[in-house]
Amino acid sequence: MAKAPHFVIKNNFQKGGRLYEDLLTPEILEDLCLRTTNRPDFTCDFDNEGYNKGKMAILEYRGKRIYISFLEGPIRSRNASFQSLPSALSRYLLDPSPRKAMYFYVHPDTTGNFETDYFLFMYRLMKTAGVSFLNLSDHISQQISAFATPDDIIIYKERLRRKGKGNNSTYITRGPTGAVEIYGKTYGANKYETTLLSVAAARVADSAVSLYEVEEGGLSALPAMSRAALAALGNVTIIPYSDAIEVAEFEADDSLRSVRFIYNLLERLGRKKCAFCDCEIPQIIQGAHIWPVASIKQDTSLSLDEKLAHALDGNNGLWLCENHHKLLDSGTLFLSADGLVKCRRLLGSNDRTFVDRITTSKTLPPEILQEGFIDYLGRRNVHLDENAFLEFA
Ligand SMILES: [Zn+2]
Repeated sequence: MAKAPHFVIKNNFQKGGRLYEDLLTPEILEDLCLRTTNRPDFTCDFDNEGYNKGKMAILEYRGKRIYISFLEGPIRSRNASFQSLPSALSRYLLDPSPRKAMYFYVHPDTTGNFETDYFLFMYRLMKTAGVSFLNLSDHISQQISAFATPDDIIIYKERLRRKGKGNNSTYITRGPTGAVEIYGKTYGANKYETTLLSVAAARVADSAVSLYEVEEGGLSALPAMSRAALAALGNVTIIPYSDAIEVAEFEADDSLRSVRFIYNLLERLGRKKCAFCDCEIPQIIQGAHIWPVASIKQDTSLSLDEKLAHALDGNNGLWLCENHHKLLDSGTLFLSADGLVKCRRLLGSNDRTFVDRITTSKTLPPEILQEGFIDYLGRRNVHLDENAFLEFA
């Protein structure tokens, strides 16, 4: 018979002076062993060096290394409950062993509601990332399925956002070439969701994945182990995005394809969908400035910092498809202060009929017409003659 399964467990909790040997009783270890190896007998080393960063146990059996990460204790906030998982996942991904597996185990001491919309989202990301559940179905009523495509993740995350249940620090979309793009704040608690989301997206992506690390207050950068684990996936590129890069791009280009502007629009408006029609093909949806960057640059009353702030403000933009972006910026369409889409009076009747037909949303919804947005509309329209435009009949 093969040697008994052997646990290696870092004994010290990161905080609070607790020990894993108190949490992981022989009964729990036996349960873990049975569920992962079909054997009840085991040996175990609790290692008192350092602390247990991924809230996990490693089980070795017949040349296979099994990582088990725990949900335990009272559920306080959503981030606190998942902050260990990405560390364990990174360790697992970086393990060169050809025979390995990663599991998630709900410890019987876990209390509170861990079947919230947000937790269900995290479980689905975990499953997509390659994590198996040992006993989750004993504790929650819903079946957890992996996401099949990045677009499934995009749609699910939008649903959470609309319900107000999302974590508003990480966004996923597709860029102009169809490549998956993740915009994430990566400091503090934000890094946990960003890491997990990136691994899950990379697993199901049909293209390269770009992870834009959005800096805030000089803080950015994922932990070194997360960066290494993402790099090891082979199809993820991490792109640091600092204020300095933003300034350089603003000075170089009037159209400003800015990471921060896209991030701010995703935060304010949700996933890419044209405000004037039903188009939601992300490859042809653009972040359109209301007060154009070229006009901002010409305003001599503003400092560079103020100009940049206006250029990046999420209130100073809309998602528009390429057609509608061009129709607005070429002066064929006009957006009035009360959110009505109007058409140039002198447009030929064929063109008017066409524009009428493709413009399926002729009034912006109230949630877009916030004060800051209306202010930018005023700045845009001050140079335009509203009488040159007509409402659609
Ligand atoms: Zn459109």
